[in-house]
Amino acid sequence: MTALFVSDLHLDASRPAATDCFLRFLAGPARDAGTLYVLGDLFEAWIGDDAAGPHERAILDALRRYTKAGYRCFLLRGNRDFLVGDLFAADTGVGLLADETRIELAGNQALLMHGDTLCTDDRSYQAYRRLVHRPAVQTLYLALPVRVRSGLAAYARRRSMAANAGKSAAIMDVNPSAVVDALRRHAVSLLIHGHTHRPAVHALEVDGRAARRIVLGAWYEQGSVLHWTTAGPELRNLSFG
Ligand code: MN
Repeated sequence: MTALFVSDLHLDASRPAATDCFLRFLAGPARDAGTLYVLGDLFEAWIGDDAAGPHERAILDALRRYTKAGYRCFLLRGNRDFLVGDLFAADTGVGLLADETRIELAGNQALLMHGDTLCTDDRSYQAYRRLVHRPAVQTLYLALPVRVRSGLAAYARRRSMAANAGKSAAIMDVNPSAVVDALRRHAVSLLIHGHTHRPAVHALEVDGRAARRIVLGAWYEQGSVLHWTTAGPELRNLSFG
């Protein structure tokens, strides 16, 4: 049994090397596994399932070919692609997961998250997240013309970049108590997430028990994939070239 985990690919038409790498991955190495989990931010931006352009369509087609070939793929939405919805799922055969999902992984109970909700020290981001996750706000936004949605998304990204430039690295990392709370809430000793772009396997202790937090890497200079085999977890890089 092998499960693969990726996150934070931030696929965008402006970075074709990352998209090519993911398409090659889906057609090749991802087929050595039974299940592929995408833990958020597959796309740099997702402004609605009805707004997919040619770049997005190529990725949807590749995902559909992957699931049609009998491989299972699940996606947990990130802070960039939280508007991925039912049409995307129907188009691709990819199963959508709740923001906090517990799975069984070779006898381990694992909690999957994108990771943004663990960054509780970033108060302004958490306030923004609460706003854009309101169903009424999403309904209003998705009713706007694609051109207007696109402009608003670009504005939000510029605001976020400007705000992040003034935030310390510690504020934008996970809060240790939020990690412990999540592990306790789901009664697990393993958490897999992305978002912070700091790939690592962290050992910690929760209520006297050993626990692990595995962080996936971003696909900027290279791809990053967590392989979970019977031998355990291993973070591997995928070359863009
Ligand atoms: Mn993210």
